[in-house]
Amino acid sequence: MQNDFDLSRLVRPNIWALTPYSCARDEFKGMDAHVFLDANESPYNDPVNRYPDPLQEELKARLAPMKGVRPEQIFLGNGSDEAIDLVYRVFCRPGIDNVVAIEPTYGMYRVCADVNDVEYRPVLLDDHFQPSAEKLLAATDEHTKVIWLCSPNNPTGNDLVREEVEKVIRHFRGIVVVDEAYSDFSDQLPLRLFAGRIPNLIVLNTFSKAWASAGVRLGIAFSTAEIIGLFNKVKYPYNVNRLTQDYAMQLLADTVKVERWVAQIRQERDHLLPALHELPICQQLYPTAANFVLIRVSDADRIYRYLVERGVVVRNRNRVQLCAGCLRITVGTPQENNELLGALRQYKP
Ligand SMILES: *Cc1c(COP(=O)(O)O)cnc(C)c1O
Repeated sequence: MQNDFDLSRLVRPNIWALTPYSCARDEFKGMDAHVFLDANESPYNDPVNRYPDPLQEELKARLAPMKGVRPEQIFLGNGSDEAIDLVYRVFCRPGIDNVVAIEPTYGMYRVCADVNDVEYRPVLLDDHFQPSAEKLLAATDEHTKVIWLCSPNNPTGNDLVREEVEKVIRHFRGIVVVDEAYSDFSDQLPLRLFAGRIPNLIVLNTFSKAWASAGVRLGIAFSTAEIIGLFNKVKYPYNVNRLTQDYAMQLLADTVKVERWVAQIRQERDHLLPALHELPICQQLYPTAANFVLIRVSDADRIYRYLVERGVVVRNRNRVQLCAGCLRITVGTPQENNELLGALRQYKP
């Protein structure tokens, strides 16, 4: 834990000084009322006629105990992508600041850096797709505000070695983001459980993968109440719509269903991996703690096109650094995985 951590030094001065938009419901909040004539809403078409709760308090109250955090440590956004963009908008001065990230990793960290005119400094993982804290820290300078980590990492699938991640968090005087989009599929203890107690840590989660809800766009960031407060100040007031909030409340009422899905995917992963390993086209199968696997094959481009012709789409990662010859394959249903395996067994080099 850092004693010399000073958040005000890291935040963009205009954001630190920002007075956020105050919506009608903010001003009235906490009092009892039954006639709402304050927001120019229509009185018809209940319930979507009303603006949604800007801070999604009901949803956070339900989510917090499940995630092992307090509601003040939760930000909800329009996918994790919103949280990723907010990290830049809160901390990084365009044209001045920079960020460091592991490479290869999830593409949105770079896209959002480019959009926000922030220099992106990729640091190559080793042959086992592991980071070196020393190398990551060596890539920083006085304008580095953020280090991006992702565990289990996309597209490689592996957990990052925890000791290296901890070293980065301990020694870096800026913000460390750890994207745990796939942590439900991993046996590693989620870092999310420490968010709020480590002043420079932001952890990302999403409803898009294990929670099987990519279509509704709901992402989560966990951090200290202070950093979450900054996100809330900068975000669009009604960033999570009423339909999504209602949907998420329903989903969270049946978490047994979600746990069953995750267990099935993990079980199916255990079947798929050895079957892929036996294929003649398989040159290397990388260890995975996610709901996908990276496989190095004899001819990635050709096999990718062959599969597409048979109606099976995987992700071609052939042109990604350290992933030459690789396809990224998501674990599907037993039937879908059998269709994939059947096609690959019939492939003629
Ligand atoms: C899929 C994925 C996400 C999810 O993003 P959403 O915007 O929440 O759908 C986030 N991070 C990583 C690394 C991912 O692979």
